[in-house]
Amino acid sequence: MSGPLLVLEDIRKTYISGGGLAVEVLRGVSLTVEAGEFVAIVGSSGSGKSTLMNILGGLDRPTSGRYRVDGRDVTALEGDERAALRRDGFGFVFQHYHLIPGTTAQENVEMPGRYAGLPAPLRESRAVELLGRLGLEERRHHRPNQLSGGQQQRVSIARALMNDAPVILADEPTGALDSASGAEVVALLRELSAAGRTVILITHDRKVAEAASRVIEMRDGRIVADSGRPAPPPVGAFPAPPERVVAGASLWTDAGEALSAALRSLGANGFRTALTLLGIVIGVASVIALLAIGEGAKQAVMARVGALGVNLVFVLAGSGDPRLPATPLTEADGEAILRLPNVESVMPYLDTPVMVRHGNIDHRTEGLATSASLPLTHRWPVAQGAFFTRADERAGAAVAVLGHGVAERLFPRGESPLGKHVLVNNIPFLVTGVMAKKGDLTGNQSTDDWVFVPLSTGVQRLIGKPDLQLILVSVHDVGRIERTRDAIHALLSERHGQEDFQIRDVTARIQAAAETQDTMTLLLGCAAVITLLVGGIGVMNIMLVSVTERTREIGIRMAVGARAADIERQFLMEAALVAGLGGLVGVALGLAGGAVIGLLAMPVVFTATAIAGAVASAVLTGMVFGLIPARRAARLDPVAALASE
Ligand code: ADP
Ligand code: MG
Repeated sequence: MSGPLLVLEDIRKTYISGGGLAVEVLRGVSLTVEAGEFVAIVGSSGSGKSTLMNILGGLDRPTSGRYRVDGRDVTALEGDERAALRRDGFGFVFQHYHLIPGTTAQENVEMPGRYAGLPAPLRESRAVELLGRLGLEERRHHRPNQLSGGQQQRVSIARALMNDAPVILADEPTGALDSASGAEVVALLRELSAAGRTVILITHDRKVAEAASRVIEMRDGRIVADSGRPAPPPVGAFPAPPERVVAGASLWTDAGEALSAALRSLGANGFRTALTLLGIVIGVASVIALLAIGEGAKQAVMARVGALGVNLVFVLAGSGDPRLPATPLTEADGEAILRLPNVESVMPYLDTPVMVRHGNIDHRTEGLATSASLPLTHRWPVAQGAFFTRADERAGAAVAVLGHGVAERLFPRGESPLGKHVLVNNIPFLVTGVMAKKGDLTGNQSTDDWVFVPLSTGVQRLIGKPDLQLILVSVHDVGRIERTRDAIHALLSERHGQEDFQIRDVTARIQAAAETQDTMTLLLGCAAVITLLVGGIGVMNIMLVSVTERTREIGIRMAVGARAADIERQFLMEAALVAGLGGLVGVALGLAGGAVIGLLAMPVVFTATAIAGAVASAVLTGMVFGLIPARRAARLDPVAALASE
């Protein structure tokens, strides 16, 4: 396309000052610039030069008038389109260089390429090449504060050239430089112009302006003189921007940059950061430690309950209400239950305190009158000898089986109790077997300390009354235990004509125990989540501060073509990273704290889900609470942001 490159028609710009007063800064500027021209705009301070340049470069919009770039009307472009215009059309050089502090020269030069979606290797090689051409190859890993003013300005010129923008806009590029460095920069601009680029140089220094082929003078927002075009400018189309793979920056390079930016801003204020991250750290640490305590307690309770036997149904005598008359539980009830489907064995249970004696050793303990099915029902093997038999039961034989602990007490010198007689409440019983060690079942009294006798014998000789306290029922298929429980309930209700018994099973108890523990864990978790929320507010706070402190950086990024979405994503990522970092510290602290508690106080069980969940919620917290700061950053006005401290 031929025709002028930049056309301003009657451009006006009015600022509304703090007091509500309208100040017209540009008062009808009309200007045409051809491709390849080298134009200097001169004028005293306050004459509106920078305002004009901001409009030319798409950083700002005129209040009225029309602006065309290469024939296209760009006056009313908004947001992303305006960002694209800056990114592809213009390279900015500022008086104070506007490099991003803390990043290297090369990173600064690469930045416009990032927002243009230039692939990393291409970006790097181009940045190295540009810096090399400007004599800064050795300095490319230096940070701005390690470079002289002249060097910084050359870095900013390299940045302006990164996306091969056809127009270079330089606002007082020599203003902050000594005369030698200033002359160098002006020479560079001449070179760029000679190479076919359009250069617009703003200066209040007439000597500097002499480098240009055309000089325009401004006063009070108007063009008061224009030297005109001395030579016919080379007419050319608006050159195509360098080839791009994707529009906008890629997520991963973004993540890398956000990480280094986050670490930089964290590192710059280590103590403040540590304080603000404390909420997240404590939140995550407490989530992990508390969940580990909860899980530890749960597993301990489950193990204890589970040891009672998951295949058992307990039938207890009495409704639990002492006012109701109760029919006793009997052996006949047990025999009826045994005929129900899925019932494997039935064990009557009637216990009484007894005094056991052998030789001169007395032992006061618990005697249990039961049936020959005990080893099967309880899955409890006999260690020596044999359990008494159904025949013993029928005969009412005076035989006894000793718990492991009783045998050790009464026969301390290791002799075998088998075939010996012991006195139970002064009645001699023949010992037929010793049970295997079982350990503590109930948590109160060890069943290893009991003595077992046939129900008939126990009723006749030790207790006197045949009413059972309990019937233990073992089932074949634990999966159907509920149905069996219901069947037992129906059977006994029919036999007794009333509900004067209670039925329990361990599965139900495990479930109840698990539920109690889950509630506990949930409560602990809630407390931790609240801490995390407080931590999130900390993250929001630090990010808001960061946006304020880095307003100028945001303006620079916008000037080189960042879209609002790019800025928003950067700050969101930073918030997520900051929170994630706090989360990792929290994990370390939580693991350490939990381990100490595990050593000193109670069982703890760390679960991977709890740890991953805690870190994930920290990151999520960061993103949620980072949203407001990120939005605020993305909505900044580029001109105001650039002008900020
Ligand atoms: P120059 O670059 O020629 O020194 P500027 O374009 O920066 O001049 O400013 C021109 C005038 O506009 C100045 O008087 C300045 O105070 C005013 N001005 C610039 N920006 C703003 C703004 N954001 N709000 C109000 N007044 C402004
Ligand atoms: Mg200015």
